[in-house]
Amino acid sequence: MTEKDHKTSLTLKVLIGMALGLLVGLAINLAGWNAPGGFIHDYLVNGLFLVVGKMFVNALKMLVVPLVFFSLICGVCGIGNLSALGRVGSRAFALYLMTTAIAIATAIFFAALAGIGKGMHFSTESTFSGKEAPPLTDVLINIVPGNPIAAMADGNMLQIIFFSILLGISMLMVGKKAASFIEGAEIANEIMMKMVTLIMAAAPYAVFALIARSMAELGLDLLGQLAGYVLVLVGALMIHLFVTLMLTLKLFSGLNPAMFLRKIRNVQVFAFSTASSSATIPVTLRTVTQRMGVDNAVASFTVPFGATINMDGTAIMQGVATVFIANVYGVDLGLGGYLTVIVMAVLASIGTAGVPGVGLIMLSMVFTQVGLPVEGIGLILGVDRLLDMIRTAVNVSGDAVVSTIVGKSVGKFDAATWNDPDAGLVTEAELTLDEKVEQELAELVEKTQKEGE
Ligand code: ASP
Repeated sequence: MTEKDHKTSLTLKVLIGMALGLLVGLAINLAGWNAPGGFIHDYLVNGLFLVVGKMFVNALKMLVVPLVFFSLICGVCGIGNLSALGRVGSRAFALYLMTTAIAIATAIFFAALAGIGKGMHFSTESTFSGKEAPPLTDVLINIVPGNPIAAMADGNMLQIIFFSILLGISMLMVGKKAASFIEGAEIANEIMMKMVTLIMAAAPYAVFALIARSMAELGLDLLGQLAGYVLVLVGALMIHLFVTLMLTLKLFSGLNPAMFLRKIRNVQVFAFSTASSSATIPVTLRTVTQRMGVDNAVASFTVPFGATINMDGTAIMQGVATVFIANVYGVDLGLGGYLTVIVMAVLASIGTAGVPGVGLIMLSMVFTQVGLPVEGIGLILGVDRLLDMIRTAVNVSGDAVVSTIVGKSVGKFDAATWNDPDAGLVTEAELTLDEKVEQELAELVEKTQKEGE
């Protein structure tokens, strides 16, 4: 195998894993082999696929907190001054809000145009209990962790971001004395990034298992009934991904969307198979920095921040679902109602973590606010799993677009990395232990131990 073959093999393997997962899962579903009590259901779908898939998602989640913590400390120290930090923060925040608002407006527009749900009468047995939107005061209060260790244990991203940035700033202010601490964080960050690469090597098999299981469990029979809803939603998601986001990238940074789409593929596959932008953070961060050339000083902040507050795909689902359910129940929301939906959906996405299925909880907040029946969500529950996977892929694409734009706009961007289609690909060489390095490390450890005696 040539160097080039080595380079392309992982991406290709992941895509093959995804395609095979789709085929196997759909075959199990369509053939009706997934009946509880049967061998396939008990030992394959809820046995092997479940174990391999969940182990992989856990491995990704395992990386999130230490990775975000260390890379943010390095990021803040790398940016070096507070006003630059403020510029990164305010630009990212403004772009995240803007793209989310455009996303939901597009969704409402197309859904209303298509008139989905009009004249339909469903009876739903599944009840869905709603959740009230947390008041803005709570959202703000909860950004500051009362206990940073608890924030890390809970994986509360906004709180971890807050603490890490403050820590980084304090380190900068302490100056020289903190240098070894900063160096330590840099080393830890590099080690964590290496761990991301290692775990990504398992992706082809894990992606197969995750997708095969989801497809085997899909309520395909429901897809027909809800075809209008699904088609408009998927259409709006694609328009957002390929038109809105790519135009935003081109307009704000001048960069080539085709290169972006090529490099983001892996991240999208991870998001699609895990249905979680949070679990995808390690892969997004690695791709944005090592493949797209955005400096860690920017990406370490914009990526975890985006995974938490920026959910374009989820906002689109909320827009389409609102129009659909309003039509099914014959409720006229009017312009004011739809504006409330836009504001609510944007607010609801701040402070809700990017984990599987959270979109439905956010939707229930929106419904409660505009007075739509929350049980209506029961209608779309059956098809939500597949849609969750698709919208999560759009969510992470938005995070990467904004990270790239902000990185470029503040001069924290390496054009050579961006222009190299093979930059940062996971190679065999990266995954093998170098005997010489191993030997050096062993000697170093021995020496330090002797010195300590
Ligand atoms: N699963 C989505 C995410 O993690 C959120 C959602 O729409 O449910 O980004």
